[in-house]
Amino acid sequence: MFKKTTFNDFSYQDNQTHFLIILMGIPILVFMVSLSGSYATNVNTVGSNVSLNSSHYKITIFDHTVGGNVVANPRISQNIPKTDLSNQIFQMTKNGSVLLKFGNGNGPKLLMSVGIHGNEIQANIAAMKYLEFIKDKQFNGTLYIIPFDIPCDTALNTRYYKGMDPNRIANIPDTPSWKIVQFAKNNGINYLLDVHSGGGVGSNRFIYVNHYFSNREKNWVSYITYKTLSSTGYDSADSAGMIRVSSHNYGINSITLETERDNTPVMTAANAEFKMILAAAQYLGFPGTNYHPKVISTYPKVNAIRISLTAPVNIKFNENIKSSIYYSSIKLKNLITGKYVTITKTISDHTLYLKTSTTRSKYTWYQVTIPKAAIKDYADNNLLANYTFKFKTGSI
Ligand SMILES: [Zn+2]
Repeated sequence: MFKKTTFNDFSYQDNQTHFLIILMGIPILVFMVSLSGSYATNVNTVGSNVSLNSSHYKITIFDHTVGGNVVANPRISQNIPKTDLSNQIFQMTKNGSVLLKFGNGNGPKLLMSVGIHGNEIQANIAAMKYLEFIKDKQFNGTLYIIPFDIPCDTALNTRYYKGMDPNRIANIPDTPSWKIVQFAKNNGINYLLDVHSGGGVGSNRFIYVNHYFSNREKNWVSYITYKTLSSTGYDSADSAGMIRVSSHNYGINSITLETERDNTPVMTAANAEFKMILAAAQYLGFPGTNYHPKVISTYPKVNAIRISLTAPVNIKFNENIKSSIYYSSIKLKNLITGKYVTITKTISDHTLYLKTSTTRSKYTWYQVTIPKAAIKDYADNNLLANYTFKFKTGSI
């Protein structure tokens, strides 16, 4: 029941490691300071770049006092793919924690506060993975994500902020955790997801709720548990300075996710936490495992005629896709001969390309078939149904 102490153990070895990192950091710091002139210019360029805000989200600096270079942490740079979005976030977090806002403003308001402890990088990796999944989606509700609560701590892979546990001071004004909880309170947040990793969690994942939890918190936890087979812990040593407790005390439904920090391969634990985040989001109607990629356009168009004998066939989806178990069963069929045509398939971002190896027959109907489990999105969701369409060739 009460495992919080093992999760938050701070070992002597950690201390030594931090000391070493700090020592090694001194020459780097001196170097950084000498570069600060050009660095500032760089940041201004980024800050004025309109591409920072897509049509699906807004990204802003949240807390200017906690900036840090999170990719200086090798477990961050090695496990988070470089994309336009992740590069933007890495760049901006040098100036402070960043806040991303998604959704259309109707419905529930969820805040994900991620990695208040800078050495719990599985949490950051899982949240960044979720960001890649939702970055091109529109949906009901408002979703706020702070993917690195204290970037300067993540950079050093340390749990502590100015000698204090930052998750014990959320009730003390102007601390990083206080600002997060106050933001939730002042912006009408209904749900707060506090994402961590910890020692001693093991292959089970854990969800923590306050000792006196609300019915909503209980239902939320039950749903995640059901979807992910994770265990639930009831923290019997709530501290008023924890983000979850402080937020709960303002009437916000607040829970903590935990995955193994030390004794599981980083991506195994991060993927387990990603699944919990998907379930937590899905419970509130945000995109999760309830989501399915959809075809938004094709070339040739459905039932089009006089189509070229050689032009590649493209099928465009509403989100980034990858191959799934029945990928080899994607077929192009000549409807006159009834035979399948040899094709090569490639995927790039939203689009599946089918290229016929030989010239197609003239004035002939061809049919494309995509089994629903041939394509999936980045949360492993397949198509809702098989997809099929026809087109007819012309003479050239
Ligand atoms: Zn933690």
